[in-house]
Amino acid sequence: MNDTKTISLCHTCYRHIPAERITKNNAVYLNKTCPEHGHTEYLVETDVEFYNSLIYDKAGYTIPDGVLIEVTDKCNLNCPHCYHRPDNRTLDKPINIICSQVENRLHSDAGVVILAGAEPTVRKDLPELITQIRNTLRKCNRKEDIAILTNGVKFSDRNWTRQIAEAGITAVMIGMNHCSYQGKKIHEKQLIGIDNCIKEGIFVYYVGYTLEHLDHMEEVLEEIQSLGNKSWQYRIRAGSDIGRSPDEPKFFLSRHVAKIKEICERKGWTWEKKTADDNLYHYMVNINGIPHRIIQWSDPKTIDLEQLQCGPWCDFVPGKPVTNFLHQIMLRDAVVNEGKLL
Ligand code: SF4
Ligand SMILES: [Zn+2]
Repeated sequence: MNDTKTISLCHTCYRHIPAERITKNNAVYLNKTCPEHGHTEYLVETDVEFYNSLIYDKAGYTIPDGVLIEVTDKCNLNCPHCYHRPDNRTLDKPINIICSQVENRLHSDAGVVILAGAEPTVRKDLPELITQIRNTLRKCNRKEDIAILTNGVKFSDRNWTRQIAEAGITAVMIGMNHCSYQGKKIHEKQLIGIDNCIKEGIFVYYVGYTLEHLDHMEEVLEEIQSLGNKSWQYRIRAGSDIGRSPDEPKFFLSRHVAKIKEICERKGWTWEKKTADDNLYHYMVNINGIPHRIIQWSDPKTIDLEQLQCGPWCDFVPGKPVTNFLHQIMLRDAVVNEGKLL
């Protein structure tokens, strides 16, 4: 990644504006000017060499190039970090509205349909929703490929997991944290949920950990080693300034990677760097042969949109075009959570 021109957002009005990556004082900044809100410059990386070494090869693209649809605003957890900020007083979207989103808003060769929330598993009619989406996909001659982005807690119920498998879910993506985050009981349910998915033949596409503190990293890495090949990939991400996030120091991907590497060296674990497959917010490495995706999201001040020409695609805000998930959760945060008129 070199100093080049790109496109970013104005973090006040969220319009797309020209931006430039510049290097000074041994750090990388994003320099941009909104015609209405003026000039800004934000630090995007503290390690220039690391930033310039990031090379992306979209040929090996492994994120499902799919479409992500929010099916509920409710959640059964209440995490201190949450880009969605659930509201359990809301009514869920009717199934026919979701099916018409699948049918009409998304291009015909889109990949997997990912059901997201807040937390999709709180929908009591989830098996019926999955069945109806499959019918819709069949009608449109599209692959019947449906995944769930979930915190995994509900999958601790084996009978329910079986129902979901029978309804036709292809894969799950499970979001977790360090065991102290939600308490051991919830954490244990999530681990049982992973096992139940495997027992019922649901592919665990990834288990992703959002970290509250970098000093939780070692135990999270140990847990990943113990889970081994239960999941196809593991993700580790620190919180970012989108949605609900306590006022914490900003993380940078280089520090995140350095911390993990230091732990691996101390433990004698192998470290095999992989070519990252999509954008500068991800760093791919196999640790003891297990694929890890180390992630640090940008926020509206530092987003580099040239780097987000990839799925998963979403249209969370009515009237706005379909774009990458990270851009969409920023738009959604501004419009739905903050009540801004964009
Ligand atoms: S982060 Fe996920 S699991 Fe946690 S409150 Fe938000 S939607 Fe629920
Ligand atoms: Zn502006």
